[in-house]
Formats: sequence, structure tokens, C-alpha cells
Amino acid sequence: MIEYLIKDPQGNRNRLEIDDDMSWMIPYLMVAKRKGVPIWRIGQIKGYVIPEGKAEGQQAQIFINENGKKYTITMLKQKQVMGGDGRRQKVVAYQDIEDAYAFEDTLLTLAHELMHLVEWNHTADHLILTAKLFLAFARFAKKQGYEGYAD
Ligand SMILES: [Zn+2]
Repeated sequence: MIEYLIKDPQGNRNRLEIDDDMSWMIPYLMVAKRKGVPIWRIGQIKGYVIPEGKAEGQQAQIFINENGKKYTITMLKQKQVMGGDGRRQKVVAYQDIEDAYAFEDTLLTLAHELMHLVEWNHTADHLILTAKLFLAFARFAKKQGYEGYAD
């Protein structure tokens, strides 16, 4: 767990706890902040794995904490690999998320979740905001030397 202090527009420092294996997001959170996303409202970013026997759903979620003030973002960090014969599929392995999804999918997921801080519902506006942030993320990734991937 890494702890960051993120300033809000009033200059208050807000604590963000982020799992070590999610810490790659930090520079992208700063990009989002520069684009006006109130990332200081996030209290925690956590990675999770779905146990065997439970179906994997979305790749990430955002929810408001019980205190009604801070948000938590959770993101899948390992993906279930199913196997076995046709009728009796079961989890045979877990694959790290960076191997299971292209980085662009992960960035799009992050942009989608962050934009819930601006527009909570899945409206057309949320989609447009997500697209704008995804573009900013893509430009930042290129500047950081992202070279894409081979099929
Ligand atoms: Zn959503």
C-alpha cells in the first residue's frame, strides 16, 4: 500500500491509498487531475481477484464509501482462465491483467471509472468525457514511450 497526498482546489491535502500493483496509475491520475477530474475525492484504489466458483464481471468499479465523502476504485488485477471439458468449465489458472488485457483496455477502463466522479450516470455526456480523458491518457502514454503491442 502506497499513500499519496493530493491537494484539492482549496489546498487541503487528501490521503489516497493505492495498492502497490496499482501504483502505475499515479501519473495517469495526475493527467486526470489536470483535466479537471476531482481525483482528491478518491480515498482508495485497490486491486482484486475473483475467487474460483464466482463469475468474473466487470474489470473495475467505483463506489462511494459509507461516510458518503470518499470514493473507492477497485480494478481486477488477475483474470480467471477457464478450462476443463465443455460442460464443466472451471478456473484452471489466473493471468496477470497486463497479459490478459491490452494496456489500452485498462486505460479506457480507468478513464471510464474516473469520469464517474464528474458524471455519475452512464449518460452520453459520461461517454464523451470518458473519450476525452482516454485521448489525454493515450497522448500521455505516447509521451512516456508506450510503443503499442504485437498481436
Ligand atoms: Zn461505469
